[in-house]
Amino acid sequence: AFGFEGKRVWVAGHNGMVGSALVRRLEWEDCEILKVPRHDLDLTRQSDTEDWMNAFRPDVVLVAAAKVGGIAANAAYPADFLYINALIAMNIMKAAADIGVEKLLWMGSSCIYPKFAAQPIDERALLSGPLEPTNEAYAIAKIAALKLAQAYALQHGMRSISVMPTNLYGQNDNFDPQGSHVIPAMVRKMHEAKTSGAGTVVVWGTGNPLREFMHVDDLADACCFLMKSHGHLPLTNVGSGQEISIRDLAYLVADIVGYRGEILFDEGKPDGAPRKLLNCPLLNDLGWKPKVDLRTGIVDLYARWRGLVDEPA
Ligand code: GDP
Repeated sequence: AFGFEGKRVWVAGHNGMVGSALVRRLEWEDCEILKVPRHDLDLTRQSDTEDWMNAFRPDVVLVAAAKVGGIAANAAYPADFLYINALIAMNIMKAAADIGVEKLLWMGSSCIYPKFAAQPIDERALLSGPLEPTNEAYAIAKIAALKLAQAYALQHGMRSISVMPTNLYGQNDNFDPQGSHVIPAMVRKMHEAKTSGAGTVVVWGTGNPLREFMHVDDLADACCFLMKSHGHLPLTNVGSGQEISIRDLAYLVADIVGYRGEILFDEGKPDGAPRKLLNCPLLNDLGWKPKVDLRTGIVDLYARWRGLVDEPA
């Protein structure tokens, strides 16, 4: 059985939402956590990545480094999303195989599945139909990466766990109005409308799409759990079962923030995938369950973000 005890564990992307959650979770394990700031190592540079890994020789690599964003960012910067995410995967996995890393955790996304996959989405739906156009570039990079992890397993015996999380939110989320995902976007818009006294908030799309949301602390726990319980996993869904329409999410966030004004739906903005609920047979069989319910998670996110924005610099 695999354990983190005494291991040198590199969390690539430790400042991001997922990476920082992995670091918080790993602090409960008896391991040495390696981190490298972006200005010291650009993971899109192959020889720099190889040099760093040769010098620091991690036993275990958890890859949370990625260029991520919400529906608008994905649609606006497809070249960046494909190029950067593919290079990060290629460079880290190649270097990990070269130095003989014991085990690697790879983070994908539920957007790798076809736009009209049968719900709840099974791992076998991979590459069975066309992707959702708004995040196709990101999805292609993530699909290439999980296939590369498989190729390194077959050709070099490198063990890896490839995890496909559902839509995530939580501590260290991005609140940029254009680039963010829907939960931080709604929290910010409704908080600002409340404090400025503006009477309306505009939500993108019809409000009809369904999304499953998981708090990033639950994802980090699931990742550690799967690393310990399995030697190698080519593709495993990690979902929460907590599904909600974008319309109901807007009402929930308004309630949490205390915004009492009008909520308008801008149908000129894209809906994206109609639904992407994950089927998680492996986690269910193992008895793993998420702990953070959606309301509690958003209350916590709002409190932390207000702590940052209300605090005078
Ligand atoms: P997606 O799961 O890749 O589509 O990621 P997002 O979190 O960006 O969007 C989820 C859904 O929320 C989509 O249907 C969006 O159109 C909708 N949405 C509504 N308002 C907003 C907003 O202000 N920002 C974002 N990012 N999405 C929004």
